Amino acid sequence: MNVPVFQMRNVSIDIGSHKTSARRIAYGVDIELHRGRTLALVGESGCGKSVTALSAMNLLSSPLRISEGSILLDMEGETRDIAQLDPSGAQMRQIRGRRIGMIFQDPMTALDPVYTVGNQIAESLSHHLGLSHKAAWAKAVDLLRLVGIPAPEQRARSYPFELSGGMRQRVMIAIAIACSPSVLIADEPTTALDVTVQAQILELLRELGEQLGMATLLITHDLGVVAENADEVIVMYRGHVVEKAGIDALFDNPAHPYTQGLMASLPPASGERVELTPIPGQVPSIMEVIVGCPFTDRCPHAMQKCSELMPALTAISPEQAVACWLYPAVVEAQA
Ligand code: SF4
Repeated sequence: MNVPVFQMRNVSIDIGSHKTSARRIAYGVDIELHRGRTLALVGESGCGKSVTALSAMNLLSSPLRISEGSILLDMEGETRDIAQLDPSGAQMRQIRGRRIGMIFQDPMTALDPVYTVGNQIAESLSHHLGLSHKAAWAKAVDLLRLVGIPAPEQRARSYPFELSGGMRQRVMIAIAIACSPSVLIADEPTTALDVTVQAQILELLRELGEQLGMATLLITHDLGVVAENADEVIVMYRGHVVEKAGIDALFDNPAHPYTQGLMASLPPASGERVELTPIPGQVPSIMEVIVGCPFTDRCPHAMQKCSELMPALTAISPEQAVACWLYPAVVEAQA
């Protein structure tokens, strides 16, 4: 595999900064993204997916903060640790949009209602690439064509409210890829869309990632989306990476009981009507202090050791790593 274009190394995120009241909400997360490939970050609400995605853009604001680790971005041969940059400073603003593009969940709130979509794409091009208004507008029309919007010359003059949800999400994708970023972060990009449009948008993202050589981080709670669109998967639970695997390894042999629970709660691909098996209970609150494995209360295999010691993410095969005491190779996590 080629050299990663983006790496989060041992990144921990805290809420609050006071020694006694601060709570950790992400623990030593490691993520590597490679050009032309998609890594999916999966888990229920409250598992730490979105906060991890925001930290990848250095977009956390008080009381959230990156308390440990580095976020390394390859910028044409030079590697920068963007966790060291001021989140609201000029350097970080230049990196967002230019080097890292982001697609948010709801295009209606992410787009500005008082500007045409053509202007919103052109603005990013003028700001980051210094293009004249005319050149930026022409490129905006090309981008709308690239993301599959019919009659792009006319659509560029439309305001967001004049477009359907699917069209608006295509505009968001056009803005995100406008400056040819090397990294694309898509946070639940199809949540607000009809099922029929979801598949088209995800296919478009995958095609663009491969065509433009972007590394994509896809945040989702939907394992069906993962199966169709990712090359590798990271499963998060209550701020911990509990499983990391290639897509085939994960679906052929889910190793962590939480991943197995997520799989069991999916409807069968055959469409057969069967009773689904939910995972009992809920993800523990971020304010709860947890000792040992955070999945203990919901796990059908929990044993004494689980509530005492936290297992570290440990390789169990070349394609798969897991943090669970059911596997003899697994060692205790460093505090
Ligand atoms: Fe279940 Fe224990 Fe494994 Fe946690 S460590 S997932 S509680 S068996």
